[in-house]
This record gives sequence, C-alpha cells and structure tokens, in this order.
Amino acid sequence: MCLRVKHLKAININKNIIGQPIYIVGPCAAESREQVLETARELAAISQEFPAFRFIFRAGAWKPRTSPHTFQGVGEEALTWLAEAKMLFDMDVATEVATPEHVRKAIAAGMDYLWIGARTSANPMAVEAIAKAIADRDAARPSQSDCKIKGILIKNPVNEDAKLWIGNIERLEKTGVPVIAVHRGCGHQPCWRMAHQVRLARPDIPMLLDPSHMSGDAAKVPELMQMIPQLGLDGAMVEVHCNPAEALSDAKQQITPEALANLTPPSPQEREPREGGLRERKNTELNWLRAEIDELDDKLWDTIAARMDVSRRIGEWKKANGVAPLQPGRYEEIVERLKAPQPPEGGGLRTEFKLALWELIHEESLRQQE
Ligand code: PEP
Ligand code: MN
Repeated sequence: MCLRVKHLKAININKNIIGQPIYIVGPCAAESREQVLETARELAAISQEFPAFRFIFRAGAWKPRTSPHTFQGVGEEALTWLAEAKMLFDMDVATEVATPEHVRKAIAAGMDYLWIGARTSANPMAVEAIAKAIADRDAARPSQSDCKIKGILIKNPVNEDAKLWIGNIERLEKTGVPVIAVHRGCGHQPCWRMAHQVRLARPDIPMLLDPSHMSGDAAKVPELMQMIPQLGLDGAMVEVHCNPAEALSDAKQQITPEALANLTPPSPQEREPREGGLRERKNTELNWLRAEIDELDDKLWDTIAARMDVSRRIGEWKKANGVAPLQPGRYEEIVERLKAPQPPEGGGLRTEFKLALWELIHEESLRQQE
C-alpha cells in the first residue's frame, strides 16, 4: 500500500530540481494500478508546484531480471495503468521493451517513449529486431496514421563496451525516431570511460544519467546527480516509487517523489552548459577526464585489494606446508617478467616505474602473509 505525501506544498522552492533538461522518472516496475497512479500523482503534484520541472513518467511492464526467481513485471496489463496515468495527469509515458512483441504492444497502448535496458543492449540482434519493429510502427497502430513515438532510449550494455553502445545507437537511428543514450554504468558502478567515448563519438546524441542503477543505492543518487552539470549531460532517468521500502524490484535504489523534489540544484556558476563558451566546454572535458581517472583509481585499488586477498591465501598455504614467505626463485621470475618489453597496449610504462610500484605491492604482500 502506498502512502500519500501530504507535504509537497512545503517544498522549498530554492531547494528543488527545476531547470534541468530531460527527466524520466517513475518506478522500476509497474506493480499495481494503485502504485502506478499514486506515484504519477505525486510527481504531477511536483510539476504543478514547479512548472519548470517537466518529466516523462516511466515504469517497466516487462522486467528482464538476472534471476528467474524474482519479480518479472506484470506484463501487458501494466500498459493500461501507464495509459491511464498519461490521460489523468497529462504526462508523457515510457516503458521498457526487450522484444518486437513488446514494441508493438507498447506502441498500441500509446507509450510516448520506449527504452532498451542494459541486458537487451548487450545483444545486437535483439536491438536490431526492436529497431525493425519500431521502423514498422504504422503496422502496430494501423488505426492512427500519426503514431508518434517521441524517442527511444538506449542504455549502455551491461558490460563496458562503448562500440556496441554506439552500434546500437546507429541501429536505432534507422527508425527515424530520436535516439537518447542513457548511461547506467556496469553493475552498480559508473563507467565514465565508456560514457566519455560515446559522448566524444556522438556529441549530437543526448545522454542521460541513470544514478539509480549506476549505484544501486538511493543514498548515492543526490551526489551522482551533481555529475549532470559537471559533465554537461542532458538530464537523468531516476527510479522514483511512492513507497520504495515495499518495491518489488530495485527497492534499495528507488527514491520517493518528495526526495526527488528536494534534490538540490547546482548553483548557476557550477553549471557548464554544453553550448557554453570555449572555457566551459574545456572545463567539461576536464571533468570527464577526472571522472575517468577516479574510476581507474577505484579499479586500481580494487585490483590491489583482490591481489592482497590471494596473497593471504598463499600465505596460509605456505604456513600449512612449512614454506617460507619469501621465495627468491619466484621473486626473480616476477622481476624478469616485469623487465620484458612492454606490449603497446600496456601504455609504454617505464620498467623502473613498474619495478618500483611492484616492490611496494610485494612488500605489503609479504606483510599480509606474516
Ligand atoms: C530499469 O531501468 O528498470 C532497468 C531494468 O535498468 P537496466 O536495464 O539499466 O538494468
Ligand atoms: Mn530498475
């Protein structure tokens, strides 16, 4: 049962999210008519309070989940609830499609936007089939000559693959429907490097941030939203549920409409519009590069931590088998490997640098084995 937010009127106008371009907000999944309409109503109330906040309402009817034992979405019936929300609150609506059949049903039910999720985006043939179904959209709604799909959103594939994401954009462009990219990260991590590559290759394609799937954590959503102005992104797709604690999927990452309304906007000085002057654009590029560096640093620490874990397991094996922690033969073998010529994809790292860094790691490794 969803609770009604009583205090929307009390939202401080200086602390709201108005002024950002594209927002696609709503629950991960359409769970019941009541949940869809209540979430839509609360979002519509925000829009009424702050007319500059325009949004597209999202909810998944079909949910491609990792496990077959979790909630898979209610299917076609959910489209009727979205259509009702569209009519009642005069809002554009969006749902996820994973097959040509979904496309036909979603178009017939009057969806304005469709999105392709990360798991489907990993399969080029599935995207091709969806693109074909969209291109044939007149057949899906023969009674209406102007069956307008206003946009198709393509999430990045589940794995870091900028080329496949760009390929999917190209597949969808053939439909003649505007294409919007959505960076949702890989697993629950942002993937700025991949997103940056796509941004550089296709600066003409709007790119949204999906802070919900990128983090898997409602508490991290506000901070991630700050990346929108910093990177000159075009908006966000955010999971918003009228009662996140009882959500049937992605409960931990969904925020309430009230929390969405209270997201603090960046100050005008912090904004770096894409169409800004040379200085702003240069700063945006620097911010992208810094995001890449932070991401790589995080991966570096994760890799070193994983290495220490293996090291400790080696330490236990050595103890159990009466072997000394430092084995000179093995040490020499690794040093020789580090001295071998660097393959070009290694970035041309200097041997002295590699040896010095490895010495530090090795020392710590021995400490872990004591
Ligand atoms: C979703 O948006 O609810 C979804 C399933 O996302 P993703 O495909 O990014 O996991
Ligand atoms: Mn979700």
